[in-house]
Formats: sequence, structure tokens, C-alpha cells
Amino acid sequence: MAKKRYSIKTGCPQCGCSGVQALSEEEMRERYGDVPNFDMECSECMAKYTAEMKTACPEWDKDCKLPE
Ligand SMILES: [Zn+2]
Repeated sequence: MAKKRYSIKTGCPQCGCSGVQALSEEEMRERYGDVPNFDMECSECMAKYTAEMKTACPEWDKDCKLPE
């Protein structure tokens, strides 16, 4: 059975480029946990910005709040 992947979509407010990462549930927990916001660094212009989990990955935002 394929593992569920979560897509995180982010857009840089400075240069407008967007990026998508696909992470498994374990990777999501390791990297982000259940934070509402997380820090991103743009791969194009190196700007640091904060992304909201509920817009970057609504699926994870919903799933990570479910009781175990
Ligand atoms: Zn950028």
C-alpha cells in the first residue's frame, strides 16, 4: 500500500516563485509537527518568509490535529 504523501505548496512573497514538496506523514511530523506557521527560505532569491500551514498544506493542517 502506498504511503500517503502531503503536498506543501509555498510561494515566495518577494519574487513570486512557488515550490511544492511532497512529504510522508513521518517527515511532516519530524519537520513541522503541528505548527500553524513555519519558516521557509526561497530557493530563488533566498528570502526568508513565514508560510501558514493551513494554506500551504490544508490536508496536513487538518490531519495533524486529529487525535491519535
Ligand atoms: Zn523568492
